[in-house]
Amino acid sequence: MQKEKITIFDTTLRDGEQAPGAALNLREKVAIAKSLERLGVDVIEAGFPISSKVDFDAVYQIGAATKNCVVAALSRAKADDVESAIDALKKARRGRVHIFLATSDLHLKYKLKISREQAKDMISRAIKRARNFVEEVQFSFEDACRTDYDFLREATQAAIKAGASIINAPDTVGALLPSETTAMIKAVVEAAEGRAIVSTHAHDDLGLAVANSLAAIEAGARQIECTINGIGERAGNAALEEIAVILATRLSDRYETRIDTRLISAISDEASRYCAMPKAPNKAIVGANAFSHGSGVHQDGIMKEASTYEIFSPELVGARRAKIVLTRHSGSAAAIAAAREAGFIVQEDESRRFFAAYKRAAERCKIVSTEAIVQVAQSLGLRAYNLMQK
Ligand code: MN
Repeated sequence: MQKEKITIFDTTLRDGEQAPGAALNLREKVAIAKSLERLGVDVIEAGFPISSKVDFDAVYQIGAATKNCVVAALSRAKADDVESAIDALKKARRGRVHIFLATSDLHLKYKLKISREQAKDMISRAIKRARNFVEEVQFSFEDACRTDYDFLREATQAAIKAGASIINAPDTVGALLPSETTAMIKAVVEAAEGRAIVSTHAHDDLGLAVANSLAAIEAGARQIECTINGIGERAGNAALEEIAVILATRLSDRYETRIDTRLISAISDEASRYCAMPKAPNKAIVGANAFSHGSGVHQDGIMKEASTYEIFSPELVGARRAKIVLTRHSGSAAAIAAAREAGFIVQEDESRRFFAAYKRAAERCKIVSTEAIVQVAQSLGLRAYNLMQK
């Protein structure tokens, strides 16, 4: 079966950076962009040029520093914004102007104070202006999740007619369920009639950003907007690493991306450091505990055959081999292996006595350190391997 190509649009440097406290300087932005290029993302949204000098310079410099990906610049549906985006993209081998306008009645009435007709007109004019300078124009319906579907269809057709080749329907506020994302994306896919790539941009306010992104793919979206570690406004965006690994493991017979998953751990650490956003230990794919095993039964299984409790190997994402964390939940197999690793000989007939002493020590702490293992072994008078005599 022919695999469908999914375009990965990374917005770590735009939406991701909007996370409180995550603001990056120019040098950091360029460094992350180069890592994203190596990772294999198709599009890097480098910033919102008219919003600040740092953003303008970041788009300009990232355009000059990268060559294997499209560089996108965000722009409101205003002439000044479009022109600033075009200037910032001057050095990019392939630049994309990403124009957005809110389209829900809520935003039209209270925020923009314009009618649907006026909105459609603004969209068309901004896209046409950008198309005078660049091939690729993406249009995003801000608050698509709460935009009337009939208007979504009408505006999709107007945007395509004006020259947009990518139409993005975001769930700006993170409100949608997967079934609702399916309905929204289907409406846009139908209206696009194959003349534009349909995209989504999900937020994790309800913890559904990745699930909604997958629902969008199943409904016909072929571009996903996401960020490293899922950072972004409020609860964040869809996590790039989760989408890439889901597609590479569970859905690899149907979809493909250009992402080199083996680079995921390194760039996840880099983004976490630069953005001062530590990862939860239990974060999927890139959390410190993603490949650790606590229970005795699981540790025993992992030591015999990793696939018993790991659905993919840590190497797939460039992480280290499963770490056996010793706690009071650990079983004798893991505890004895740790004692042997610390240099002690644990004979068959000593193992029961050793494990009982281990259990007593483990009751007193959350994680049993190597030093504690050594103490237990020494207290029982276990012989050490003669490490000096090699
Ligand atoms: Mn967003």
